[in-house]
Amino acid sequence: MSDLTKIMLAADADGFRAAADIWASGGLVAFPTETVYGLGADARSDLAVAKIFEAKERPSFNPLIVHIDSIAAAQKLVVWSDAAERLAAAFWPGPLTLVLPIQPDAGISPLVTAGKDTLAVRMPAHPIAQALLTEFNGPVAAPSANPSGRISPTNPTHVAEGLGTRVDAILDGGACDVGVESTIVGLFDTPTLLRPGGLPHEALEAALGGPLATLGDHISTSDLTAPGQLASHYAPGAAVRLNATEANAGEVMLGFGDIAGDLTLSASGDLREAAANLFHHLHALDKMNASGIAVAPIPDHGLGLAINDRLTRAAAPREG
Ligand code: AMP
Ligand code: MG
Repeated sequence: MSDLTKIMLAADADGFRAAADIWASGGLVAFPTETVYGLGADARSDLAVAKIFEAKERPSFNPLIVHIDSIAAAQKLVVWSDAAERLAAAFWPGPLTLVLPIQPDAGISPLVTAGKDTLAVRMPAHPIAQALLTEFNGPVAAPSANPSGRISPTNPTHVAEGLGTRVDAILDGGACDVGVESTIVGLFDTPTLLRPGGLPHEALEAALGGPLATLGDHISTSDLTAPGQLASHYAPGAAVRLNATEANAGEVMLGFGDIAGDLTLSASGDLREAAANLFHHLHALDKMNASGIAVAPIPDHGLGLAINDRLTRAAAPREG
């Protein structure tokens, strides 16, 4: 554990500056919120966000919550609405995450949204989180600072034990108050509770001035993936063919390592670089209007697991 004391930053002006500098240079900093410790990175940097998935050993790219220090900062990232205004007025700063349509020019890495056109934003109430976000002056993507599948960390020791030196620094803010993750509300045609948290359903409905649906209220999951609802995970229009060594007639090729393509995820075979490029390259290849996208084999370890999960879904037959 002696190495870990080197990555602990004190919650003072010097510590905030050091943490913000690490974010600005594409590193990972764990920081306290009122719910749990978050594993933060600059939400605009593909490589920095790829490091979050690598550090957590997440086998898939699920979307991340972006932390901001003000309503004004949120409004630059998402399409604000009356419902958002009501909920933010009632519960921000605090343990409430709002999912809204992303602004086209938000500048957020598509790894943060998993290629969706919606973005989850939250303004934490913890004074250390607020001071740090204000010092950084940019959007910070942060899931809980624990390895995938493990219990969420509520103090810096949990973070250090779980992630060790995979995190560049831990801002030491002592124990979190709540220890329950934020309540997530999706503001689509029907405001929907996407993840229950510490905020009572009735209080959310009172602030909204109307009903809050729960996921169970929807008739089927296809309702949630309809346009205007929960946007489906990004799938290219072209058919995707995996483990290809070359493109067939009419196909464009997504390369990796020694197998070069029309676009290549990483010529050097670096999985972090490949993850950072994944959504950008799929979009760009899709725009080439080929009959299909042939994809070179990606190693099935580390970030390759998440990349292959995404590609496998893209290759799967589409629902209606
Ligand atoms: P965690 O990684 O533990 O902070 O959890 C983040 C949660 O936010 C997950 O349940 C995600 O599915 C959810 N989330 C983040 N962004 C979105 C989004 N755009 N749409 C729906 N859910 C989201
Ligand atoms: Mg978590």
